[in-house]
Amino acid sequence: MKMFFIILAAGKSRRFKSKLPKQFNIYKGKMVLEHSINKAINSKIFEKIILVISKSHLKYAKKFKNKNVHIVYGGKERSISSLKAFEYIKKFKPNKVFIHDAARPNFSIKLIKKLSKFVKKHKAVVPYIKLDDSIKIKKKLSYENLEREKIILTQTPQCFDYQTLKRNYNKKNLNITDDVSILLNNKIKVKFIPGERDNFKITYKKDLKNENKKIYYGIGFDIHRLVKNKKLYLGGEKIPFHSGLEGHSDGDVILHSIIDAILGASRKKDIGSLYPDNKKKYKNIRSPLMLLPIVRKLYQNNFFINNLDINLICEKPKVSKYRHKIINSLSKLLNINKDIINLKGKTVEKLGLIGKEKAIACEVIISIIKYE
Ligand code: ZN
Repeated sequence: MKMFFIILAAGKSRRFKSKLPKQFNIYKGKMVLEHSINKAINSKIFEKIILVISKSHLKYAKKFKNKNVHIVYGGKERSISSLKAFEYIKKFKPNKVFIHDAARPNFSIKLIKKLSKFVKKHKAVVPYIKLDDSIKIKKKLSYENLEREKIILTQTPQCFDYQTLKRNYNKKNLNITDDVSILLNNKIKVKFIPGERDNFKITYKKDLKNENKKIYYGIGFDIHRLVKNKKLYLGGEKIPFHSGLEGHSDGDVILHSIIDAILGASRKKDIGSLYPDNKKKYKNIRSPLMLLPIVRKLYQNNFFINNLDINLICEKPKVSKYRHKIINSLSKLLNINKDIINLKGKTVEKLGLIGKEKAIACEVIISIIKYE
């Protein structure tokens, strides 16, 4: 079953009243549309994620482009953007397609999993919520009450059988605010499932404010002996040097300190209790493989890394020579921007084991934010 996730982000956000459309503003530590991209990736159910943007916004979106996230230029109207994405994915022979508004960053991975299950039996699945407020309709001279029980609010992501949706879509459907309207207009049966209250649409600037956050700090320290005939890994990168770091794993002191700092900030003990060094399974393991599951868990639990400060303590290699390389690698491994990482090199005046180039140590402080 080939499923695709289309994120519509070509809108101009007229009600948002800002030059930069809402989907490219920062919300909960990330670009609004980045939340949707990350959740789609983390759900692991999609062949490809299609980001539909306006050509003029490529400079904000191009960093997301990779072999699983493709960029398509949209049109002036929502329906044209959807159509362009359908055309684009045709070559991949999709079975099911999710369509999502970039302005809804708060849906859960659980919701997409639920949608993907229901779409196996239905042509279209749509999340909805009920209304809490009383609702009236304006007539010529008065207002009339509507029955609240009969009204639902539809959300995205909406999930469709690709062929059915494509068949019903045509260029006349210019004035739609969601894709399911097209199927409903053509009398096709739609399955509605409960949506999520938090999955609201960012519409006004004040919607971006989220004061409900907590900050946690974690500290990490590590030291390994240098030995001949071993490769040196620092921050996940191979660094040319006469020796490497001794240890059960590849001895990457930077990644080990970061792991301990993350575990510290999220109060989950330490690296030794996760990866005991008496277990054969972890013998010679590369440290990125130890880090990645921890990072994935962190993001799944709605934490964001806010700042990372690293002291690498060694006589040699010279940190200045490899700073870019290491920061690039950390940015990829941790899925964070390079500008929140700081790497300092510290020598020890030739004192002790580190001074004699027989060991390398590292200390790290990390701050992570949780948005409620
Ligand atoms: Zn270590």
